[in-house]
Amino acid sequence: MARRKKIYEGKAKILYEGPEPGTLVQYFKDDATAFNAQKKEVVDGKGVLNNRLSEFFMTGLNNIGVPTHFIKRLNMREQLVRSCEIIPLEVVVRNVAAGSLSKRLGIEEGTVLTRPIVEYYYKDDKLGDPMVTEEHIAAFGWASQQDMDDILSLALRVNDFMSGVMMAVGIRLVDFKIEIGRLYDGDYQRLIVADEISPDSCRLWDAESGQKLDKDVFRRDLGDLADAYTEVARRLGVMPKNSQPITKPTLIN
Ligand code: 5GP
Repeated sequence: MARRKKIYEGKAKILYEGPEPGTLVQYFKDDATAFNAQKKEVVDGKGVLNNRLSEFFMTGLNNIGVPTHFIKRLNMREQLVRSCEIIPLEVVVRNVAAGSLSKRLGIEEGTVLTRPIVEYYYKDDKLGDPMVTEEHIAAFGWASQQDMDDILSLALRVNDFMSGVMMAVGIRLVDFKIEIGRLYDGDYQRLIVADEISPDSCRLWDAESGQKLDKDVFRRDLGDLADAYTEVARRLGVMPKNSQPITKPTLIN
């Protein structure tokens, strides 16, 4: 097989040069990291599950007219995506208090917010992705006012879509993080949802029991991460109902 050019390797994914100009191949690794990579583990099957789940969410968004980088899934671990310039912001939308919001403001986890809260974090591992305001974003030229209007609108549309899809399968979308990319078309640019949407970047709680079905299972040592993600995939019909969690191949005598 011809060697591919690696463009970028992150904590959970690798980007390779794509088959055509303007495309990339996004490879989902099994590596799980938390607390800025201070906690690390390999979770067999996580990459396969996130590839399928991100495909599911991005396809749904494309279908309702929310532009994303996703073109098609190529195989178990890879998808073809549009190459774009990532805006150095993590855009977080919250429906229910949890995680850093609860910690920072002392609001009890599980408190339903009266309106979605959108927050911005500057993407910089060395700084621990600090929270920033629109003032910082404008002053440092990370995005224009028009970009910010478009980002807010994209974030809220993703929230409406994802909340509905998850509630239909008995899961509460507590919060999530997305990344936004710029796509250039001649003199014009368009903003699109990039990176991934998966249980790695969302908080998902069972609507009845409150059971966590997202990366907090790993962050807080609450059980088997692959089992939690498999449950999300099963409920969404992304995996057959009776399939076992994806693990390494085992030899059968
Ligand atoms: P919090 O700010 O409460 O830690 O996170 C809010 C939401 O954004 C959670 O769903 C969390 O999973 C997601 N999130 C925040 N930062 C990151 C990040 O660096 N990587 C990923 N994958 N998700 C993040």
